[in-house]
Amino acid sequence: MKDSSFSELNISPEILKAINEMGFEAPTSIQTRCIPQILEGKDLVGHAQTGTGKTAAFGIPALQMANKGSNTPSVLILCPTRELAIQVTGELIKLAKFTDGIYTLPVYGGQPISRQLKALKKGAQIVVGTPGRVIDHLKRGTLKLGSLKMVILDEADEMLNMGFREDLEEILSYSKGKSQTVMFSATVPKTIRNIMNRWMENPEMVKVEGKAETAAGIDQYYMEVRDSMRTEAISRVMDMSNFKLALIFCNTKRKCDSLVQELQSRGYSADALHGDMNQNVRDKVMNKFRSGRIDILVATDVAARGLDVDEIDVVFNYDIPNDPEYYVHRIGRTGRAGRSGMAITFSAGRKNKSLRFIEKMIRTQLQPLPMPSAKEVKLSKMDNHLEEMIDTLQEGGLREYIEQLEPIAEGDFTPIEIAAALFKMRLENNKIDLNAEPEQQIPVEEYYGRKKKTHKKRNKRRKY
Ligand code: AMP
Repeated sequence: MKDSSFSELNISPEILKAINEMGFEAPTSIQTRCIPQILEGKDLVGHAQTGTGKTAAFGIPALQMANKGSNTPSVLILCPTRELAIQVTGELIKLAKFTDGIYTLPVYGGQPISRQLKALKKGAQIVVGTPGRVIDHLKRGTLKLGSLKMVILDEADEMLNMGFREDLEEILSYSKGKSQTVMFSATVPKTIRNIMNRWMENPEMVKVEGKAETAAGIDQYYMEVRDSMRTEAISRVMDMSNFKLALIFCNTKRKCDSLVQELQSRGYSADALHGDMNQNVRDKVMNKFRSGRIDILVATDVAARGLDVDEIDVVFNYDIPNDPEYYVHRIGRTGRAGRSGMAITFSAGRKNKSLRFIEKMIRTQLQPLPMPSAKEVKLSKMDNHLEEMIDTLQEGGLREYIEQLEPIAEGDFTPIEIAAALFKMRLENNKIDLNAEPEQQIPVEEYYGRKKKTHKKRNKRRKY
């Protein structure tokens, strides 16, 4: 597990401020190991997947080393797709929020070239582009690499798979000997080694190690839900299950705070635990969690270090962790002291790639878990009410209530009708809409460990 902080990595105060605003609490392991070396000017190969925080690992030094305010670019970042180019540009813009003199421009095919020409003319210090379009601009003379200090190949293996080898070599031939070369790749096959040998100077190799092992006794699931549905999914799982204590992990402090607010507004007792809180406040939150006064704790990796609560029933990964090792630490907070535990990781779309990487590293396949439908949750709540009613019947002490109801039962209504009316009133008080349309038919109840109470005494003679 990482122990460094961003402030130890020689990052400028302006970028540190932006990092803090983005809510990153500590560098991921690829960031800890790459940022100082890139800042020293070394050529480097980061053997890392998407999801590891690789963009900031090269983006932070790129930003810091770019020539502020210059007319020609000093950093060129190459990406296999326009989507990635846009994503990388977005991350750089956020990181550059407090740094003056940096304009980051994405250039990719499919966008009118005239717009890019205008933008290039104005002067961009960092250009993020797909290889084909970058070559176009080089040939037209609209992209000048005379002051280039750094070339970064992002997802280099993907670029080679997509047939960009010649384009890449052409671009690298412009920069060889003049600039630092940095490459990130999820895999390092022979073709990548060839690029390294030909175009890089004694590159440092940095790899995210995956010596992670998960504890036995934890049922590990992933749930495919859109980002905007994650809070709803947590609510449904919590409502459907008998979970008492849940721990939710987010990757940033900001996300922890906003999720706590969302959960509180849905009526859950939730609180956050992250690095912006002082020790005194953190201790208070921990005590509340330990004593069950809050049911849901929303934490970052760093803040949850050393968290020693044995009764956590379920761990949610609201965000997929940046490092397989964090995954292991996170889910290890449940299933402690011989108990069984459950871990649910939310994923969707591109994020499934990061999830597959974690599975590979921990040598375990997560099982798919469907999101409970609203109807299932409601039926399950109704079941809980029925169980409570049976408990109340078994407890007895109903004489005074029976006396109230007897006159009605002797009149127009049968006892079962009276019971149904009371049940209806109770459910309506709890805002349960049994007419809601089912969203899916998969019976998910079994996943949530709803151990049905066995009413051994059910047939016993009732004592009033
Ligand atoms: P990447 O591997 O660059 O695609 O990053 C994956 C996600 O992690 C992005 O949403 C980043 O904004 C986020 N991220 C990067 N570094 C950190 C960090 N140190 N702490 C939390 N989140 C991060």
